[in-house]
Amino acid sequence: MNSTCFLKKNSKLILPFLITVLLFSCVNNSEKKDTLKIERPDYVLVIHGGAGTLSRERMTPEREKEYMHKLNEALEAGESVLKNGGSSLEAIKAAIIIMEDSPLFNAGKGAVFTNKKTVELDASVMDGNTLNAGAIASVTDIKNPIKAAFAVMEQSPHVLLAGEGASLFAKEVGLEMVDNNYFHTPYRLEQVERLIELEAQEKYGTVGAVALDKSGNLAAGTSTGGRSNKKFGRIGDSPIIGAGNYANNQTCAVSGTGHGEFFIRYVVGFDISALMEYGGMSLEQAADLVVNGKLAEAGGEGGVIAVDKHGNVAMPFNTTGMYRGFVKSTGEREIAIFK
Ligand code: ASP
Repeated sequence: MNSTCFLKKNSKLILPFLITVLLFSCVNNSEKKDTLKIERPDYVLVIHGGAGTLSRERMTPEREKEYMHKLNEALEAGESVLKNGGSSLEAIKAAIIIMEDSPLFNAGKGAVFTNKKTVELDASVMDGNTLNAGAIASVTDIKNPIKAAFAVMEQSPHVLLAGEGASLFAKEVGLEMVDNNYFHTPYRLEQVERLIELEAQEKYGTVGAVALDKSGNLAAGTSTGGRSNKKFGRIGDSPIIGAGNYANNQTCAVSGTGHGEFFIRYVVGFDISALMEYGGMSLEQAADLVVNGKLAEAGGEGGVIAVDKHGNVAMPFNTTGMYRGFVKSTGEREIAIFK
């Protein structure tokens, strides 16, 4: 029997057969698609303790151990909040307080000096769910600046308070106040004296945290002493929403560290979010373009930590190192300093 005869004879059977094959392949395909779907982790926390010209040669094993230990402590503090169903906001606050209370980082206790040998602190927080934000700048006597940023967001109609007004507000809401001497450490004093002599400024060491919680809410927080030997009164990018700190549930949460003047002019945090929202980029592409492309080409040194709404993490930096770490509910975990 030739093939035409065969088709004619079995035409009634062929159509149902083809439909069955088609249906089977559809079901099979959608199953394949389902297995390809990447589940969002329950929670993600990313932290940084500043980017800069960190050299392996100058880092003693003891000092490296101290940093790793503190970064680990900060990650654990934030993770325990998230694991117990706490919010991304509470998690970043817990992680940042640990780093602010440590003399190792340029924030809170270990902050750098201005050219007048005083300490002036900046900090901010942003809630990706509501786009609410709070920040303080140039404060000299609030023990934990990140707590003051939270208070501005939660207990005032404002976004940014500076100087004396910020201190007064912090007192009114019952935050712990300290004398400026609390922030004076011999290591930072020696650093600023060297820089004053060289007529130079040194940056970096800022702390920050970004998180995604079980409800899918993103948050970002940043706290810093700014740049060592900075001009008295100078405010960096860390308290500027959209520059050194940004969070938006539609895209990502970002905290920056580096040369603040560049981060302000290049609107770093918002630019990463906008490249995702309007440019369709992935978090990794957007963060890399801004840090290793735009900033690097302009001479703006630094890095960012970021997490997107799917739980992806990016930690690019264009310096030799950045104190950083992340943890995910999936068990993935990393703490690192150098490239
Ligand atoms: N970005 C901070 C500032 O310019 C400094 C830093 O990240 O180390 O104030």
